Amino acid sequence: MAEIEYFDREVETASRDEMRMLQFKKLERLLNKVYTSNAFYLNKFRQFGIALSDVRSLDDLRKLPFTTKREFEEDQEKHPPFGMNLTEPLENYVQYHQTSGTTGKPLKFLDTRESWEWRGKVACHILKGAGVNRADRILFPFNFGPYTAFWVMYEGAYQLGILIIPTGGWNSLQRLECMIENKATVIPTTPTYALALVETARENGIDLASSSVRSLLLSGEPGALIPHVREKLQKIWKASCFDYIGLTEVGTWGFQCTEELDGVHILESEFIAEIVDSKTGRPVSEGEVGELVLTNLGRSCMPAIRYRTGDLVKAKKGVCSCGRTFRVLEGGILGRKDEMIIIRGVNVFPNVLANIVESYIQAGDDYQIEVYKEGGIDEIAIKLQMKEEEKKEMIRRAVQDEVKGKLNLRVGVEIVPRGTLPKFDYKAKRFIDRRKGRVH
Ligand SMILES: [Zn+2]
Repeated sequence: MAEIEYFDREVETASRDEMRMLQFKKLERLLNKVYTSNAFYLNKFRQFGIALSDVRSLDDLRKLPFTTKREFEEDQEKHPPFGMNLTEPLENYVQYHQTSGTTGKPLKFLDTRESWEWRGKVACHILKGAGVNRADRILFPFNFGPYTAFWVMYEGAYQLGILIIPTGGWNSLQRLECMIENKATVIPTTPTYALALVETARENGIDLASSSVRSLLLSGEPGALIPHVREKLQKIWKASCFDYIGLTEVGTWGFQCTEELDGVHILESEFIAEIVDSKTGRPVSEGEVGELVLTNLGRSCMPAIRYRTGDLVKAKKGVCSCGRTFRVLEGGILGRKDEMIIIRGVNVFPNVLANIVESYIQAGDDYQIEVYKEGGIDEIAIKLQMKEEEKKEMIRRAVQDEVKGKLNLRVGVEIVPRGTLPKFDYKAKRFIDRRKGRVH
């Protein structure tokens, strides 16, 4: 086994007590700044009657109210363009980003030089976690738009001193040729685009397995943590897959190490993570599923304090074999709070169904999972679109049987003609919730 590389060994292998002390020290510093000049949080804390002196330990964090995405949205609607969640004078901010706005108006986020460096440091932890080092060459196969995800990795790679190859504005074939010619070894991408590149490679007679790429860093959608997607990508690319997880509102908080393939570490030196019961807001018991609540410790300029992510997670017991003491979330994000389906008393996450479907289909095939209401009851329909004619019926039945066997659930599985399902380049939307007219 190769020796584990850390970005900051002392912090990453700290004992639980040391970590709590470090987190509290950073929290104090954050709250001191916020209480001095952040109008958004000052109003909020005042409404709840919380003074700075009320927070004397890490556990006291729970006295502070939660923050929701809706509050950030309302703040920016009322105080355009950037809202009141700004701790520093506007001229100190040097970077602009925004959310994609798929579920509402885009949220704008500003960074100061200091907080941007912090975001880069966070990415250094992630890159090192995936075993990336200075001998690597990292190729970014997309345009750098206003979304943070790949900018942050770019900053991290820059800080670590890794050779960065940008390929924005190019098509997939140009990117593949550049990748091969310059012997790129690491590709940050969405799983959907990693598969799109496979198609382009195939059409142009490029053998990805013999390329120098050794790692795919996946984000933007569940990928490395859906076992059958991971297997597919690893096999075709002959490369290891690592997921990293972030939210524009909070930062990139989760990453996979080289040893734990079924979970993500929470970057606890930079984020305080709580797992709470979605309804009561109280911490769940150890090992139970709950909603992830995050406080970022390095973005005092535009912080997120006790931010409700809406993501359901479950902490794993024990310490990871990579030596990091950062807690591990089993299976990463299990699903979105609002995506959980309860069908005839069975709790189902779309990802579990996706994994079953993925185990049967080939690259180039596609599927959609639809939830709808019939007679007041939630129902699931899986639509399959496949290239090969002969095996269709066999696969349709196999998926149906496996869902029945694993989840004790009868779901409709239907074959749809080619060209029926939408095609995605970067991020796929394969879960359609028709219960309230929403599409996730
Ligand atoms: Zn680990």
